[in-house]
Amino acid sequence: MPDLQKIVDEIYSKLKPRRGEGKVADYIPQLAHVDPKKFGMAIVTVDGEVHKAGDADIPFSIQSISKVFTLTLALGKHGETTWNRVGREPSGSAFNSIVQLEHEEGKPRNPFINAGAIAVSDLVLAGHTPREAIGEIVRFVRYLADDETIAIDPEVAKSEQATGYRNFALANFMASFGKLDHPVEHVLGVYFHHCALAMTCTQLAHSGLFLAAAGKNPLTGHRVVPSQRARRINALMLTCGHYDGSGDFAYRVGLPGKSGVGGGILAVAPGKASVAVWSPGLNHNGNSLIGSLALEMLADRTGWSVFGQ
Ligand code: GLN
Repeated sequence: MPDLQKIVDEIYSKLKPRRGEGKVADYIPQLAHVDPKKFGMAIVTVDGEVHKAGDADIPFSIQSISKVFTLTLALGKHGETTWNRVGREPSGSAFNSIVQLEHEEGKPRNPFINAGAIAVSDLVLAGHTPREAIGEIVRFVRYLADDETIAIDPEVAKSEQATGYRNFALANFMASFGKLDHPVEHVLGVYFHHCALAMTCTQLAHSGLFLAAAGKNPLTGHRVVPSQRARRINALMLTCGHYDGSGDFAYRVGLPGKSGVGGGILAVAPGKASVAVWSPGLNHNGNSLIGSLALEMLADRTGWSVFGQ
């Protein structure tokens, strides 16, 4: 195993002068208040070593990273029939794009774009009130990270509820094709709340550990999903986790990853570690600019890649 703490420290000090680069998401008003100079990184290895640097223990809005957790929950509830409602193809479009929905009769291309995650929220709602579904998601993430302190930031949820015109458009469009089982307001209530989960890099890296360890969290011993499902979630993260920047991320980093407009990225090095980075400035695809660079440097220095040594 490479000297991970040394590598993390080096990456942090190399990128520290560039903190603040990129554009903080401001279409969710509450996110615009975040200090653009925040930068943190945490690695949790499958052996339980934790290595961190910078603002690794400050909670931030995980936004679309939560889509990995809701997909995992939906697959647990509905199994393969999940795929009747959402596809598994990269979109090549922006995270909030509506165009493909018309061609595909309201079936979103993948679970990690907004439309797809809204469909997944609808699946998680099955048999629940919105409050219960939100509670189930929070409990699941706490269980994954083995941390009871993880919570939703209600101000972020409210802020998105008040301004989420595009997400309302997506959900209404899907509903017009008869593709939602629950009322649009309920589905979006669940969606906005899981996007508003606040987590630190350290918590996030712990929560992704099951994906690095064949579906079982090696620190708690909890079997979260069968190994095949973990591989498949990783495949989706690799192909779809960065929207229309997924190909670039695979080329540069070579690991499954999921980004969020809060500036976080969760990346998985199968058999090795789970990694979380946070830097709020985004690139033109809505992915953390410095966070992507940090992961690129990490992959370069460790040799971690799903494509070979
Ligand atoms: N909650 C955000 C939205 O719906 C999530 C987008 C993201 O993180 N890319 O717009």
